[in-house]
Amino acid sequence: MASTGTFPDIPLFDLRLEQEDLDAVAEVLRSGWLTMGPRTQAFEAAFAEHLGCAHAVAVNSCTAALHLAYLAAGVGPGDEVIVPAMTFAATASAVLYCGGTPVFADILGDHDFSIDPDAVRAKITPRTKAVAAVHFAGYAAPVDTLRALCDEHGLALVEDVAHAPSAVLGGKKLGTWGDAGCFSLFSNKILSVGEGGLLCTDDDRVADLARSLRSHAMTSGTWDRHTGRTTTYDVVGLGFNYRIDEPRSALGLSRLGRLEADIEIRRGLTRRYRSLLRDIPGLSFPFGDETVEDSSCYVMPITVDEPERRDPLRIALREKHGVQTSVFYPAVHEFTAYRERLGPISLPRTERVARTEVTIPLFPHLTHEQQDHVVGALRAELAA
Ligand SMILES: *Cc1c(COP(=O)(O)O)cnc(C)c1O
Repeated sequence: MASTGTFPDIPLFDLRLEQEDLDAVAEVLRSGWLTMGPRTQAFEAAFAEHLGCAHAVAVNSCTAALHLAYLAAGVGPGDEVIVPAMTFAATASAVLYCGGTPVFADILGDHDFSIDPDAVRAKITPRTKAVAAVHFAGYAAPVDTLRALCDEHGLALVEDVAHAPSAVLGGKKLGTWGDAGCFSLFSNKILSVGEGGLLCTDDDRVADLARSLRSHAMTSGTWDRHTGRTTTYDVVGLGFNYRIDEPRSALGLSRLGRLEADIEIRRGLTRRYRSLLRDIPGLSFPFGDETVEDSSCYVMPITVDEPERRDPLRIALREKHGVQTSVFYPAVHEFTAYRERLGPISLPRTERVARTEVTIPLFPHLTHEQQDHVVGALRAELAA
């Protein structure tokens, strides 16, 4: 299988919708009611039930959910939130939206890319308001330990669950350990609808705040006025337009029914990758075999032993073997905007992973033949 042009033969991620998804969206489009309304309510109720939490508030991105979660935690100018740097930038940038300062803590290491609770503890100051945990690639961060640490210090725990819908720690769903769990419905996420997110919580106050601020802190919504529940509104705070629309909620609701089956296939493919990759010299992968069954297996991260081999490997995979890869993630504290704002910060374990990580293709309809091709390409290139 040689590369046949601009598009790789084996993409990092690929999405297949079913007829029922298309029908659900078409029905909304025909109904003529496109913004947040009854389908969004139905999606929220179904997601909350699926997760086992009191409230799911749908918004237009996980970034918006993180912003609302930090605001609900009381984060404002002068406050600090301890976050990992081995994440997508949104985990940290949403702290800046509040006027707060993200304080980066290192990860556990090559074997587990989660934020290190001991590193978090060392960064707590009188200005700390919250701690954010990212469940990297769908594998649980130590939110049990972090929950206890946050309780001890009176801090909020915000879970960035963008990678980990339906994953668990000790039988309890990720996203229900913190004061708020923020999910993503972005195109390449497991439960994708294009653009969208959800804030989940058991706390009525957090849910009320999120519902209010997602729509300009107005006391009634367009649907309420359309259905005659009220004819006017007041604005009672500084809110945003973080609303989701009905076609996306309908798509999310339709796809939610197949989420568990989708993840089960991902787990099978992940186990297969782990057994096939195990004996390739110069390559490792994080998280233990026993963690796969509790993970949502969003992506398959590997690391190369020698950082200088990483970028040439990625180029060879793409150009010689038609295999698309990505880097999850360049470290957030090393981005220009963060360096300029916060100055130099040293996070050795994060920096090592940022220089050695390669994310290889994983999606439910990835075939064994394609998987063998990816593994063969890695074996050939690392032997070269
Ligand atoms: C994708 C992602 C986000 C942002 O999600 P959006 O829905 O695109 O705003 C935040 N955190 C992590 C870890 C992500 O992977």
